[in-house]
Amino acid sequence: MAARVISVGIAVMDRIFAIDAIPTEPTKVFARSCTEIGGGPAATGAATASHLGGEVELWARVGDDPIGRRIVEELKEWGVVPQVRHVPGGRSGVSSIAVANDGERLIFAFADPALDTDTAWLPMERLASADCVLVDLRWPKASERVLHEAQRKGIPSVLDADLTTDDIARTLVPLAGYAIFSLPALRRFTGQTSPGDGLTAAQRACKGRVGVTLGAEGFLWLDAGRLEHEPGFAVSAIDTLGAGDVFHGAFALAIAEGRDMRQAGRFANAAAALKCTRFGGRAGIPTREETEALLQTSRTTA
Ligand code: ADP
Repeated sequence: MAARVISVGIAVMDRIFAIDAIPTEPTKVFARSCTEIGGGPAATGAATASHLGGEVELWARVGDDPIGRRIVEELKEWGVVPQVRHVPGGRSGVSSIAVANDGERLIFAFADPALDTDTAWLPMERLASADCVLVDLRWPKASERVLHEAQRKGIPSVLDADLTTDDIARTLVPLAGYAIFSLPALRRFTGQTSPGDGLTAAQRACKGRVGVTLGAEGFLWLDAGRLEHEPGFAVSAIDTLGAGDVFHGAFALAIAEGRDMRQAGRFANAAAALKCTRFGGRAGIPTREETEALLQTSRTTA
């Protein structure tokens, strides 16, 4: 039976343009290609876990608009079961993203501040059937409620602790079974520059496990106070947009399948590395077969 993951947080629509270079002054830039595809940490994590073989639900809210309807349709195409509320009068989140040849990005993101944060409609009774929950920082009330309930029920939980401009991580990290940071987010959370010192400081705030993604360098985590490392896979990366979201989705699925942190980190490194070899954010999510094939190789950056 497939492992079951419930992912909770944000779902948006991205329009991603491939351009030669980020302009330094106002101008018109002609893109080489353009992809319109869903984004958002929880939603891309859900699409990843589903594509890699999990049975996955996404709990999210979008606007009551055509973009919101398209976001939901596309999630279904990835095999995700949407538990998504179309907020009356609300507008869906959208981003326009330019990715240059050197991988640099320019992003314009819109998130409707009026998008209702109510969590009363969430089907909390469904949590009992989950093997793991994955939450992001973009719908804090829902993530807090789900993390509390997961803790109470003994369900593993993964927090995608990415960089935000607020301090919501302070509330959610202590509740997480696995708090997995990006390096900029870990630095902001702890004030420590080195990833090792950052994890040691983050562990003081978290009763669960703490880890950090290091881009091409892979994944670092603490095991009973000892630093452990799984190197990234050596690939030629052309688009790292969504790499962190793919990592977290694959990591949550591996935990749902009962793997330990090293196995989950290695599996997630492989899935995220493959994503980086393809343009278009979530469009680059690999299949299980592709991921397993890369795992058989030792092409790491160590
Ligand atoms: P984010 O996308 O959130 O900034 P990272 O840059 O740390 O997060 O990337 C997340 C994961 O994606 C890494 O831990 C690694 O597994 C994979 N990854 C990112 N960039 C590369 C790369 N250039 N080569 C191989 N793997 C990569």
